[in-house]
Amino acid sequence: MILQLLFPPKCVLCGKLLKREMLDLCHACRASAPHFCGRRKKRRYIRDWTALWYYEDMVRESLLRYKFSGRRSYALAYGRMLAMRIQQDLTESFDVLTWAPVSRRRKHKRGYDQAELLTRAVARELDKPVVRLLRKTRNNPAQSSMEDEAQRRANVLGVYQAVSPFPAVGKRVLLLDDIITTGSTAEECARVLLTAGAEAVFCAAIAVRRAGKEQSKTVGEDYAIVFK
Ligand SMILES: [Zn+2]
Repeated sequence: MILQLLFPPKCVLCGKLLKREMLDLCHACRASAPHFCGRRKKRRYIRDWTALWYYEDMVRESLLRYKFSGRRSYALAYGRMLAMRIQQDLTESFDVLTWAPVSRRRKHKRGYDQAELLTRAVARELDKPVVRLLRKTRNNPAQSSMEDEAQRRANVLGVYQAVSPFPAVGKRVLLLDDIITTGSTAEECARVLLTAGAEAVFCAAIAVRRAGKEQSKTVGEDYAIVFK
């Protein structure tokens, strides 16, 4: 209660104060956010995947605050909403959650690994274990500095390594990341996890880049509304 007074909950997208009956998003953002339509492009190493929103406008600004302006608390809100989306979209089961890590240097500089925080928040909602399965061995140039898909694939190749001994042999793994742009990072992580012995890899992200003509989903279909 005291915490609520000191840090009144705000909408993670527009930053407005939330009324008492609202959680994570205000009514306006719930209605107008660019919700991911659910159409999933087939991926080579990822069995199935989903995301909450398209990476644009208010979603992009929210994620930039989360990653670069210290809004660690957003992980809880993102995690609650993404967990619901995972339950709706991913029909196959998985055993453990893991994440695409940032390099040790970047984590040290920022003070936290945003994908790890997200993963822990989602895992709490889904009541599944979180296991660190990947290490980032090189601090490669940021994927966001590259537009071209082939360039992005080359940029992540060999950057991630499975931890050894690998604790997820024969396990079905859900990989979390904050943004899927072309999918190169998630695919490379999935390839490494499968090579190390995982049985299947699924993926979930807060945001995905809109592919061509995809329309945002309108609220009220099957996008669960989060009220206390
Ligand atoms: Zn809002």
